[in-house]
Amino acid sequence: MLEKQNLLGLPQDKLKKFFSDLGEKPFRTKQIMQWIYHQGATSFGDMHNFSKDLRQNLQAIASIDFPEVVSINHAKDGVIKWVIKLGEENHIETVYIPDKERGTLCISSQLGCALACTFCSTGVQGFNRNLKSHEIIAQVLIAQNYLKKKDKRVSNVVFMGMGEPLLNESAVYDACELLLDDWAFGLSRRKVTISSSGIVPALYRMADTTPVGLAISLHAPIDELRDVLVPINQKYPIKELMKACRYYLNAGTQERHIFFEYVMLDGVNDLPEHAKSLARLLKGISAKVNLIPFNPFPETKYQTSKEGTIDKFQNILYRSGIRTTTRRTRGDDVDAACGQLAGKVLDKSGRNVGRHQLLS
Ligand code: SAH
Ligand code: SF4
Repeated sequence: MLEKQNLLGLPQDKLKKFFSDLGEKPFRTKQIMQWIYHQGATSFGDMHNFSKDLRQNLQAIASIDFPEVVSINHAKDGVIKWVIKLGEENHIETVYIPDKERGTLCISSQLGCALACTFCSTGVQGFNRNLKSHEIIAQVLIAQNYLKKKDKRVSNVVFMGMGEPLLNESAVYDACELLLDDWAFGLSRRKVTISSSGIVPALYRMADTTPVGLAISLHAPIDELRDVLVPINQKYPIKELMKACRYYLNAGTQERHIFFEYVMLDGVNDLPEHAKSLARLLKGISAKVNLIPFNPFPETKYQTSKEGTIDKFQNILYRSGIRTTTRRTRGDDVDAACGQLAGKVLDKSGRNVGRHQLLS
């Protein structure tokens, strides 16, 4: 038997093709999107504006399939973490972070991550596979449907969960299309952000493919240090990365800027000279720096920078005219803070064998 086509996660043009292949009119596309994304439908039986024949036909060949939610954890500060099962040995995590004016959902794009940044719990655990677009979009729908009952909503989506989104481009771009589409989530382009460790060729494609926001996980202003913290830097060094960033900023028709993320590691990348070289690197670029106090996880060798050090670092950037904010740590009592997402991943990269070497 042919596998049923999961309609969840298909962007409008692919759904249109699906219906046209069935000999159906294009307006079915918007109807089904309303059912899935606005009404929260999970089966075709209730779709009363479809003929009985069409409903039966859809039941036979298609599905609206969600993965299983294993647990929902509530942190004291309002953060909610979903653990979602994708097959026997694999779990991903999705985190909701409410604040005064926003409700940000942090979603995963891969099962684990192959890039092995030394300060990141996801990177340390290895890599299994890319998520499908329906597995990315399911995270948003699961959260949205749950939050609706509590009179809350997802206002922003960031690809800052597990995985490197620019190593899973087509599923991530399809998901972005749905996040922006009024017939699905209808978020404005400024409310969706892809965070990347800097996959240079993909950055050029992203700049021309989707209008969503970009965050770059920089973490060090010089190659020598970045090569160690973010090993993909050995392949795509800072100079190449900044060239791609400039391309992104000038592409598209609307004004763009980039968030540069910088995790504060005690005595490693938090010295005044690092702040000064960071300021030089970002001079003249439409950039905002986000300092992230390092969130520890069991196997790590790093420590969080002292509060005074972070303030000093931030002041140097300020004085150089660089907009800088320090991210508050949220949800750490349920291991939901940045870099603590580890789900459960059956590593296929073979790297876990060397896990202890990596951390020592
Ligand atoms: N792979 C992408 C997106 C996921 S990581 C990327 O690297 O950008 C999301 C953010 O969390 C990145 O900026 C990442 O560097 C940061 N991060 C990872 N581990 C962290 C930790 N232990 N403490 C604080 N931030 C961390
Ligand atoms: Fe992967 Fe991002 Fe973690 Fe690096 S920081 S290992 S790119 S998830």
